[in-house]
Amino acid sequence: EKEFETRFNIPHITDVFDDAVSIPSTFCLRMRTPVSEEFAGGYPSDEEWHGYINKNDRVLLKVIHYSSPTSAGAECIDPDCTWVEQWVHRAGPREKIYFRPEEVKAAIVTCGGLCPGLNDVIRQIVITLEIYGVKKIVGIPFGYRGFSAKELNEMPLSRKVVQNIHLSGGSLLGVSRGGPSISEIVDSMEERGINMLFVLGGNGTHAGANAIHNECRTRRMKVAVVGVPKTIDNDILLMDKTFGFDTAVEEAQRAINSAYIEAHSAYHGVGIVKLMGRSSGFIAMHAALASGQIDICLIPEVPFNLHGPHGVLRHLKYLIETKGSAVVCVAEGAGQNFLDKTNAKDASGNVVFGDIGVHIQQEIKKAFKAISVSVDVKYIDPTYMIRACRANASDGILCTVLGQNAVHGAFAGYSGITVGICNTHYVYLPIPEVISYPRLVDPNSRMWHRCLTSTGQPDFI
Ligand code: ATP
Ligand code: MG
Repeated sequence: EKEFETRFNIPHITDVFDDAVSIPSTFCLRMRTPVSEEFAGGYPSDEEWHGYINKNDRVLLKVIHYSSPTSAGAECIDPDCTWVEQWVHRAGPREKIYFRPEEVKAAIVTCGGLCPGLNDVIRQIVITLEIYGVKKIVGIPFGYRGFSAKELNEMPLSRKVVQNIHLSGGSLLGVSRGGPSISEIVDSMEERGINMLFVLGGNGTHAGANAIHNECRTRRMKVAVVGVPKTIDNDILLMDKTFGFDTAVEEAQRAINSAYIEAHSAYHGVGIVKLMGRSSGFIAMHAALASGQIDICLIPEVPFNLHGPHGVLRHLKYLIETKGSAVVCVAEGAGQNFLDKTNAKDASGNVVFGDIGVHIQQEIKKAFKAISVSVDVKYIDPTYMIRACRANASDGILCTVLGQNAVHGAFAGYSGITVGICNTHYVYLPIPEVISYPRLVDPNSRMWHRCLTSTGQPDFI
């Protein structure tokens, strides 16, 4: 028998507060009909059925035995070991909680860009907080900026307010980039009496959330800061997938299908679709796999040449000659080496990318003109149409579970954590572990090989 080791330990309130005491959970696992106006959770579950998640429950992160480190996709942590064993804290409601619901003021904030499912997560956080018995729930408007902007009032939230918000895309609370410093944010939290903060955002937002968590600890504030990773690109380490990704892949089909029809209906038609993916090509790869209409899929992880005997343009010429048309899908972060550096940054300090879609379109036109072959190139950028969509069914479920688990994590006394799905189970992870770098498509993985098999494209090097 092997003793298991949790690689991904998460901070708990009792790590720093000796006086932190727990009370029995007010979250009821089995709801009963309310018997009075006072109903706000708190019914004891059947004694013989415990049902809460034990704090020592762990999820095994990887369940594969690589018989050789040269196997496709093998990622051995220890070079001598081909059995990757990593244990992660299991998410869910605990029997003991570390916050009295009547003393909680919970705040929710959404930062960065839009992503399908934000409203679904907000909704579930509010609903679950109410079931614990929390009365004070507010939304911070327009991301971290809402903490400092005096003209922006916090938005009171309740089940009634959030009941139907998941029926539309976007964020009820609004989003933004940039904003106040961490100490200003924590000052504002102190002033407002916020002791539970739910932060929905990407890597930047999570870096902020972790800094807020640390600052609260420094000031000895008993606060739970819990993140819900929002990245449509699906580029968060260790997680099977993040919310919004499925919807994005599904919605991308519509753009790809339009590009295919345009290309197919034109004489020597070429359709180009640019999809999201700053450093990771998951959306482009999955959209190519799902649609079956892509001839060339270009992602940031796999270098390519446009020109030369093995370049994309040479292959396009071959496709035009043999099939009469072609469809290219390119991730926004791919081929940035071909574009002039602008050094432009957004309000959060992220580098603004050049438009690779436009570049490829221009290069195709030039190259075919040079050999006197006519082409009809159509370029589609569906980015903002996809981001603003409402979540599809599978993302709706994912958001529901993540939102609920975020609240369970906060009540359980954890802080500086984020929620996710690992190896089909829901887990809590320490924030720094998941934002140290983006998760990438492994060019040696089975999935990328499957994508290449499906498109039929060669190496462009
Ligand atoms: P997206 O995936 O949409 O880019 P994101 O969370 O990465 O999401 P950003 O605009 O980069 O979006 O950051 C969101 C917020 O987090 C901004 O208000 C920004 O000021 C703050 N932020 C970004 N990076 C950090 C950091 N390293 N430390 C503290 N706060 C940060
Ligand atoms: Mg980001």
